[in-house]
Amino acid sequence: MNRIVFAMQNGWRERHRLKEFLTNPKLQLTSLSDLTVEMIEAAHVAVVVLDFDGVLAPHDANRPTPEAHKWLEKLCLSIGEPRVAILTNKAKPERLRYFREHFPGIQVVRGVAKKPYPDGIWEIANYRGIESSRLLLIDDRLLTGMLAATLAPCQARYFSKPLKSFRRHFFKEMFFSLLRFLECCWIRAMGNTKAL
Ligand SMILES: [Mg+2]
Repeated sequence: MNRIVFAMQNGWRERHRLKEFLTNPKLQLTSLSDLTVEMIEAAHVAVVVLDFDGVLAPHDANRPTPEAHKWLEKLCLSIGEPRVAILTNKAKPERLRYFREHFPGIQVVRGVAKKPYPDGIWEIANYRGIESSRLLLIDDRLLTGMLAATLAPCQARYFSKPLKSFRRHFFKEMFFSLLRFLECCWIRAMGNTKAL
């Protein structure tokens, strides 16, 4: 409950910046392949931080999709595993095992406090002794990932076409689709309002 109150309070405070993720295409990604090494280097990004659910796989999956796996391999070949991190609110043992087996150099973080608290972002930056502004977070939620990035602060791209599998988890995917829809409506409606 505290997390929801924190998200609503800070979402309101950061509403102008959150709206930019909906209105500025340069702050969005529609697929992982849209993120190129050239973009990463041009923005002086030291670490690419990826959300798991919706970005690497549909909700609750134990491992990334085959396409996401291939993209991760390519990314790690280009910039190296230490420059990639996973920030997920669900660090399930199956996921940890997957990264240990396939990408042992990728740091997987849940954070002392879940997103939208910025603790996980700070943990990744502190581990490397760098400013959080050198991190780039890719996340499909405005009031969790993008809000955490705004508060940290770090660079961020809103993953606007999240991966879903209605066949596997119909009700959960419906629930998260509804959440995304509601938070988009809220930020669109409130994004231009002045303080009360
Ligand atoms: Mg997500």
